[in-house]
Amino acid sequence: MTQAQLKREQSPLLAVHDVSVVFGGIIALNGVSFDMQQGQILGLIGPNGAGKTTLFNCLSRLYQPSKGDILLDGESILTRPPHRIAEIGIGRTFQNVALFPNLTVLDNVRVGTHSRTNSDIISDSLRLPWVRNGEAALNKRVDEILGYLDLRDVAHTTVAGLPFGTQKRVELARALAAQPKILLLDEPAGGLNHEEVYVLGDLIRRIRDDRGVTVLLVEHHMGLVMSIADHVVALNFGRKLAEGTPAQVQADPDVIKAYLGSKDS
Ligand code: ATP
Repeated sequence: MTQAQLKREQSPLLAVHDVSVVFGGIIALNGVSFDMQQGQILGLIGPNGAGKTTLFNCLSRLYQPSKGDILLDGESILTRPPHRIAEIGIGRTFQNVALFPNLTVLDNVRVGTHSRTNSDIISDSLRLPWVRNGEAALNKRVDEILGYLDLRDVAHTTVAGLPFGTQKRVELARALAAQPKILLLDEPAGGLNHEEVYVLGDLIRRIRDDRGVTVLLVEHHMGLVMSIADHVVALNFGRKLAEGTPAQVQADPDVIKAYLGSKDS
């Protein structure tokens, strides 16, 4: 094993280091640090206003921390514009689903592959052989993902007409089409019924197990977090309150106190 491989094996995939975010006079995040290991499912929890969304938005580069750093594979992501994070392997879904409603499922998922293609407009219009080969590989990848997420039957259906639960699967498919190393999920259980949350949990675990994707989950649904996360980080008032296994965090007196004092409990 080379030194570089050894370093990669030992170091975390993602390191959040002393991150603070200030909005006007409000300290939304205050010196938060934690690591994520390759292949982990990490649940980020906390009562309303704890700072979860703010941290999520830092990870997806929508917000710029006022202090601290976020490293992916040892390299800072903070110099990257938000539209270029998919290229380095960060994928995300949105709380309220952000698909193109008038496009088909297939086309929405194809959009996800965009960050991983390296063709240009001239090669595309001339349909050079390497463009055609690239397209064939891309179509194969999209078809595989549609099959994996049980979406082949609706591939040619317009997204707007689909049930919310199916739209959420399309969003996952789009994110997976960019072949992320790490997938950021923003309250994926929101708006789903009990049965759908159970199916979603199973799916997230399978995505990690089958595809080796590391998952960060911001979620209010404690049942989901505690059943699928390997590691949990709890925030409150912008600070890290506790971290550990789901059982450790659930039993932490500070976490219990924070939830009892909030309307999330
Ligand atoms: P929820 O579970 O309710 O979504 P959260 O844990 O995601 O809460 P954040 O939305 O990150 O919490 O909010 C953390 C703090 O920062 C809150 O006090 C919030 O009011 C404040 N805040 C968040 N975004 C902004 C913003 N764009 N401008 C000003 N204050 C903000």
